[in-house]
Amino acid sequence: MPSYVIYEKCDGCKGQDKTACMYICPNDLMVLDKEAMKAYNREPEYCWECYNCVKICPQQAIDVRGYADFVPMGASVIPLRGSEDIMWTIKFRNGMVKRFKFPIRTTPEGTADPWAIMGSKKDDFDGEYLYSEPESLLLDELPSK
Ligand code: SF4
Ligand code: SF4
Repeated sequence: MPSYVIYEKCDGCKGQDKTACMYICPNDLMVLDKEAMKAYNREPEYCWECYNCVKICPQQAIDVRGYADFVPMGASVIPLRGSEDIMWTIKFRNGMVKRFKFPIRTTPEGTADPWAIMGSKKDDFDGEYLYSEPESLLLDELPSK
């Protein structure tokens, strides 16, 4: 079931050009109503329920309506992301609460370099699987950095 923004909690990421939820959604679903300074999911039926927007929102202003087999009525699944780990608070419908903390990265924040891996496989860019690129991406050449 799709994500939704809790209107009272959203501060529009304080008016930045691109809000955190817009930045992270892999399906480009979140948009900001600049007059109200509130974000919303513009195409709920295309939402993958991936929880990315829920995890990144600094105001905890997004929730996902979980499917009944995963989150039965009256229960909830709430993530709280830190810089090195994420805490999941699971509320069962009988009132029991459990918390699970998981590490989310192996390198300091801001140091991940995906091109370090891609660069070492640069020959793949000329391989058969990408034969239609860069033209199909409407680029003159593939980005190298
Ligand atoms: S990330 Fe959260 S606070 Fe920022 S615009 Fe989206 S819903 Fe609002
Ligand atoms: S749950 Fe995932 S797909 Fe749905 S709006 Fe949030 S980031 Fe996008």
